[in-house]
Amino acid sequence: MNHFNYRENDLYCEDVAVKEIAQKVGTPFYLYSHATLARHIRHFQKAFAAVPHLVCFSAKANSNLAVMKVFVNAGAGVDIVSGGELFRALRAGCDPGKIVYSGVGKTEDEIIAALRNGIMMFNVESAAELEKINEVAGTLGVKAPIALRVNPDVDPQTHPYISTGMKKAKFGINIAQALEEYQRAQSLPHIQVVGVDCHIGSQLTSLSPFVDAIAKIRTLVSTLKAEGADLRYLDLGGGLGITYNNEMPPDLEDYAAAIQKATSDLSVTLVFEPGRVLVGNAGILVCRTLYVKKGEIKTFVITDAGMNDLIRPSLYGSYHGLMAVDRSVDERGTMVADVVGPICESGDFLAQDREIPAFETGDLIAVTSAGAYGFTMSSNYNSRPRVPEIMVQGERVMTVRQRETFEDLVRGETIPEDI
Ligand SMILES: *Cc1c(COP(=O)(O)O)cnc(C)c1O
Repeated sequence: MNHFNYRENDLYCEDVAVKEIAQKVGTPFYLYSHATLARHIRHFQKAFAAVPHLVCFSAKANSNLAVMKVFVNAGAGVDIVSGGELFRALRAGCDPGKIVYSGVGKTEDEIIAALRNGIMMFNVESAAELEKINEVAGTLGVKAPIALRVNPDVDPQTHPYISTGMKKAKFGINIAQALEEYQRAQSLPHIQVVGVDCHIGSQLTSLSPFVDAIAKIRTLVSTLKAEGADLRYLDLGGGLGITYNNEMPPDLEDYAAAIQKATSDLSVTLVFEPGRVLVGNAGILVCRTLYVKKGEIKTFVITDAGMNDLIRPSLYGSYHGLMAVDRSVDERGTMVADVVGPICESGDFLAQDREIPAFETGDLIAVTSAGAYGFTMSSNYNSRPRVPEIMVQGERVMTVRQRETFEDLVRGETIPEDI
C-alpha cells in the first residue's frame, strides 16, 4: 500500500499533485510519501509486536536524514555499513544503542567511531575483522559487543548481485566454521559476544530461504547458549521483497508468523534490518520527456533522468513501472519503446521494449518503486548534479535535499598552479 494515487487525471502524492511539485522544483526529482514511510515502519513493528524485537532500518536503501527521522520517531534503530552512515544515523537522532554495524570492510577509523559512540553491536564478517575490533577496543579500553554474521549457505533465489548468503559470497562466516569462530571470540579480552546475525540477500519473494536459514543457524544459537554465551540478539537481516511489477512477495504477517514459529524457543530479541520493504514503494522518481526519437528498429523516449539518477535498471536489469503523471496521456494509446536517459552509455535506460503510454515531449513520467536504492546509488556521472529529494506529508511539501548546483560538482577540486 502506498500514497501515490490518481485524482481525476492527476497523479497525487498524498494531498499534493505531482505536477505542481514538478513546476516548483523542476525535474527530475525523487518524491517520498511521509504517510507511506510511517505506515510501513509501524506495520513491520506491529507484525512482531508479540515478541521482543528491534527493527533497524537499513540506511543504504535510503539514507536521507528526513527519511531516517521518520523511522527513528517510530522507535526504530538503524543498520549501517559505513562511517558515513553512522554519521547520518546519529544526525537523524538515532539512539546509538539501536545501531548495528554490518559490512565486510570496516576500517580502523570506522571501528573507533562506532565504539566511541557506543553502538549496539558489530556484525562481524571475518576472523581478521574480529581480531581488528578486539585490538581497537583494547586501545580504547572498552569491550566491543559483537555478533558474527553467519553465512548459512542457502540460495535466496534472487538476482546474483543481491544474493549474499551462499558459500561463494564474500559475506559472513561459513556456518561450518562459525562455532569455532565464536569460541575464539569468547576468548578475546575486548570482545563481548551478544548475538548471531545473518542476512542472505535482497528482494526475496518467498519465505523458504528465510526459514531454511533459521533452521541452519538455530543449532548454533542453542549450542552457544549451552556453552554459557550471553546471547541476547538474533539478527535476521533484511531482504523481504516488494512488488515492482508482478512479483508476489510474502505478506509481512506471514513473514512474521514463519519467523516467530522458527525462533519461539530461542528466547532472544529478534533484530531485523529491512530496507527495501520500508522505503521502496514509498518513493517515485519524476522525470520529463525531452524527445521522442523514432529509429528504424526502435522508438526511444529520451527523458531528463538517466542511469546516474537511477541505476537499478542498468545494474540489475530491474523493472520499474512508468506512469503518466497526467493520465489523459493514456488516451493517445500505447507504443513499444525504450525509455532512456541522456547519459553517453548504451546501458543508460529505465526500460527496454516496454509497452508504455504514447509519451510526447514535455510529458511528466513517474518512475515507480524508486524509494529504495534510488537516490543512494545515484552519482554525478556525466557531471550531472544530483537531483533533489522531496517529501510530502499531507498537503505539506518539504525539500529534504536540495538539487545540487554546478558549484557542488567541483567542490573540493583545485587546479594546481603551473600545470
Ligand atoms: C542491504 C542490506 C540490508 C537491507 O536489505 P533489503 O533487501 O533492502 O531489506 C540489510 N542488512 C544488510 C547487512 C545489508 O547489506
